Amino acid sequence: MRNRRVAPLASALALCALLSACSRPDREESPPDSPPPSAHDAPPQGSIAELIWKIQDSEDAEECDHDAKPIQLEIARELDARKAELAAFRSQADSSRIGNADYRPRPLGPTRLWERVSPPVPIPGWQEDRDSWALIGESFRKIQDTPIDARWVRLEARVRGTLRDDLDRVVNGDWFYYTLGREGESLLQGSRPVVSACLADESCRVPEFDSAIATRAAENPLYRYFARKLGEITDPAERQAKLRSWLKWIDWALTGYDFKPNSTIRRVSSGYELPLLSGDLAGAEETLAHAIETTWSHSLGERRESVLARFDETELPGIFRLLLGQEAGSRAFVSFTQKTVNLYPEIVASTIAHEIGHVLGFPDHYYTVWEPATCTYLTQSRDDDVMSNHWSGGGVTAEEWQELSERYRNPEK
Ligand SMILES: [Zn+2]
Repeated sequence: MRNRRVAPLASALALCALLSACSRPDREESPPDSPPPSAHDAPPQGSIAELIWKIQDSEDAEECDHDAKPIQLEIARELDARKAELAAFRSQADSSRIGNADYRPRPLGPTRLWERVSPPVPIPGWQEDRDSWALIGESFRKIQDTPIDARWVRLEARVRGTLRDDLDRVVNGDWFYYTLGREGESLLQGSRPVVSACLADESCRVPEFDSAIATRAAENPLYRYFARKLGEITDPAERQAKLRSWLKWIDWALTGYDFKPNSTIRRVSSGYELPLLSGDLAGAEETLAHAIETTWSHSLGERRESVLARFDETELPGIFRLLLGQEAGSRAFVSFTQKTVNLYPEIVASTIAHEIGHVLGFPDHYYTVWEPATCTYLTQSRDDDVMSNHWSGGGVTAEEWQELSERYRNPEK
């Protein structure tokens, strides 16, 4: 299948280069009028090479994506060829160092759970990390002629994580999310009433934001597009359509910051009872409950309050089921339409705690920004928040406990 696709794509690109006419339409030039239908939550299936071709074959692939193709395919060839060897290495390892922390495994149904053994030393405040195919390529060059070891495992996870962002940005239509960053919510919240007021006011041509929002609006490609278009449009109906489309994009992006209440959760005196179906991890209920409670637990005066997993309510509507995917190193995720928690082999305990945070209703508190000028992803996160950077060993913040207690009130009170 790969061979069949290589030739036409290569010649199409060569033709594009000659004619310079079939280049990708710039998203800032003409973003789709409507945001993508909803959060796509199908996991990225397939070998690394297949995922790369999904991106490369997309008409929305950018110059950065095409430039990265040679190194992407070179790395994919190695990782896909060594897949079995990598899996064997993972399942035989009895200790691992991730970042600057040591981890040890324990059985978890058909796979293993990796628990942190070094105490966390969270750095206060927002942290920034950058990654790109160029940097991944540098790491790959250092190990390409060496036998499989922990560095290969890390490379595979980094490749799969970056591909997930590439797929979301290029194929799944989430590119606007990748322009927002941690200031995104305030841009969206602050601009929405202004765009909405402009729609209601016949004399308004372009929404005029106050200075704090105007600066950020001027930096955002979608906002720049709408502001420029509205400046050109003279027909009132066309102007209204553009403003409606702008509002749709804002509302679409705002759903990413929403808390999604879970109707199955019960407030009890010792905390929050969370019914779950152990699904693919049947038999590992006790270990799972422990992994969840270790993070989702705090002192409240003289008593402790925890999230208590309950694995016995098969018929409960809205209950989430745990699934174990095939591809170790893939990024775990929660599907709200399927009501599933999608985990992968050799899972890290804090990853489960993070995904359970989504099941409780929390959105992610980390933000990934695509920087096309350098073909780089910038990730903004906090070490002290499991919903932001769970690798750092950070727990549940005071604000998150406060939100839980407001969202899930004791029915007797
Ligand atoms: Zn998440």
